[in-house]
Amino acid sequence: MAKVLRILTDPDPILRQKSVDLDLKKIPKKELAELIADMTETMLKADGVGLAAPQIGKNIRLVSINTADGPLALINPKIVKKSLLKEWGEEGCLSVPEVFGEVRRHKKITCSYLDPAGKAITYPAEGLMARVIQHEVDHLDGVLFIDKMRPITNIEESRYYNKIIKSDETKRAKNSPC
Ligand SMILES: [Zn+2]
Repeated sequence: MAKVLRILTDPDPILRQKSVDLDLKKIPKKELAELIADMTETMLKADGVGLAAPQIGKNIRLVSINTADGPLALINPKIVKKSLLKEWGEEGCLSVPEVFGEVRRHKKITCSYLDPAGKAITYPAEGLMARVIQHEVDHLDGVLFIDKMRPITNIEESRYYNKIIKSDETKRAKNSPC
């Protein structure tokens, strides 16, 4: 049975370290499968759309994301292509509870990563998934979205944010934390 792991929160120093590549030859298959299952369970139970290994205390380059087709584990993800076009979008983070703000990200990206069997995958993403992957790869480099966030200074705007944060139907929408 997959376990729900404790999610570290800012200012835990582990969140600020650069993570190292995962060596699939060194980690036993069963251990990796368990870690991925636990991270997926933790992400889903927390209503997140993504979770990076540093958030559960491991400085390795492993990420879980919740795609429209279900959860996916990305090992050693690299953003190999980025659109010139960027867009602002709202983000939150399971490691920075109750803070939401706007971050400018590339609209489209291509991510390359290894699957748990060690197969190289190329994954094009746009919109929410492109945003989530950029947010998670930042985690692997010790960067949090609050470092890049546009502060909310307008009262009308913050009322709007409060409203959408509390609304149930937006749980898997753009403001789901990761
Ligand atoms: Zn995050």
